[in-house]
Amino acid sequence: MTSAAADLIRQSASVLAAAISEGEVSSVEVTKAHLARIAAVDERVHAFLQVTSKAALESAQAIDEKRKSGATLGVLAGVPIAVKDVLTMRGVPTTCGSKILEGWRPPYDATVVSRLRAADLVILGKTNMDEFAMGSSTEHSAYGPTHNPWDLERIPGGSGGGSAAALAAFETPLSIGTDTGGSIRQPAAVTGTVGVKPTYGGVSRYGLVALASSLDQAGPCARSVMDAALLHSVIAGHDPRDSTSINAPVPDVVAAANRGDIRGLRIGLVKELSGEGYQAGVLQRFNESVELLQGLGAEVVEVSCPHFDYALGAYYLILPSEASSNLARFDGMRYGLRVGDNGSNSVEQVMSLSREAGFGAEVKRRIMLGTYALSSGYYDAYYGQAQKVRTLITRDFNAAFEKADVLISPTAPTTAFKIGEKVDDPLAMYLNDIATIPVNLAGNCAMSLPVGLSPADGLPVGLQIMAPPMADDRLYLVGSALESALTDRWGHLLIQEVPNL
Ligand code: GLN
Repeated sequence: MTSAAADLIRQSASVLAAAISEGEVSSVEVTKAHLARIAAVDERVHAFLQVTSKAALESAQAIDEKRKSGATLGVLAGVPIAVKDVLTMRGVPTTCGSKILEGWRPPYDATVVSRLRAADLVILGKTNMDEFAMGSSTEHSAYGPTHNPWDLERIPGGSGGGSAAALAAFETPLSIGTDTGGSIRQPAAVTGTVGVKPTYGGVSRYGLVALASSLDQAGPCARSVMDAALLHSVIAGHDPRDSTSINAPVPDVVAAANRGDIRGLRIGLVKELSGEGYQAGVLQRFNESVELLQGLGAEVVEVSCPHFDYALGAYYLILPSEASSNLARFDGMRYGLRVGDNGSNSVEQVMSLSREAGFGAEVKRRIMLGTYALSSGYYDAYYGQAQKVRTLITRDFNAAFEKADVLISPTAPTTAFKIGEKVDDPLAMYLNDIATIPVNLAGNCAMSLPVGLSPADGLPVGLQIMAPPMADDRLYLVGSALESALTDRWGHLLIQEVPNL
């Protein structure tokens, strides 16, 4: 790679967008630099399932021509982006990391994808993920795991490990993830990147293949808070095609990311989300960040959310219940893989053989759990109870937000673990999301941003900021303030430290 191209891949999306709009560099040059980087490193990282080079270069060319014609361009015009393979893109294979969808080419774009196109971003391809977004390591992808660029023997988090690893490996300056229980935030934490789960209903779910419809939310992934804010502003907003989409103005996240003044802001430390079960190195970086926030003039208070202790249990009833129902449509008849269609098998046999061959072990486990929790006689005891716990968690948040404007916690209890370490232990895997799940259950919004490297192992640590529904701007206000305090302290942005691949 030439040094000019090496320089381009290390720039933020905001810097690239400004350079492209000034005509200092073309979108084609920026896109080529990223495609070259993908070609050079993705064999080792495996962040991508599909690289749509030809289409990417064509759209970059079209954007460059549009600029030359003097037409108005979007804020991130000409900047490359990668999209998690759970969002549909017209004509491009969409697998959700599963064999059951192999060969399926959706006939339509997800709303998030059409908004990226409308804002003149350049889509580089689709990123790897745990099958149907179930997992915290990307090891449950039917297409092999993604590797963490900080240490290729470690997981990049999940389910959106591909979107996070692609950022950390400088294969793309921006990506899209989805978060049902932490799949944007936990990968962000373990790769030293920024990830935001917007308020439920803030970003359209149209064209997002459903895992658990009442929890799923797509959101921005980036290497800086400002880049995430710009991307958030592009994808958020009402969509009549999603009945759960909120019909209200999108909070001004870009202005909030620019403001950075948190004097007098009340920040709540959630007692239940730190301490036991969290690595010492994670807590050390977290506590230092709390001091930095205080130094910036914020008022830090401790809050208690007693029902958070039951969040994991409630989530692992609600999620499998919804997933078992959502995944019923993958029956070998309508999409992708079909097995045993030999003229003598019955329809039921073909369905059963297709599902047997097409789904991996974790997906089957959750379908069984969900089907059981919803079965007559058990429905009230499991699903019904879990819904009650969900209400209690929402009330805990409401009470905490009376005392604090935002809440904070470590994003994940540990730094990136080794590939293979937890894959055979579902409970150990589920525990990664202990701090991220409450937000999904309540429908709030949250951000994870990097706050340093753990002194124990030199791997990135993430801090989570949580805000009430439709107060997404507060995430960016606090996130940008903390990010600049951390940058002042170290003299550079953390992500520049990623070892050379
Ligand atoms: N790790 C969680 C799970 O396996 C989160 C998944 C997600 O957010 N998509 O369910």
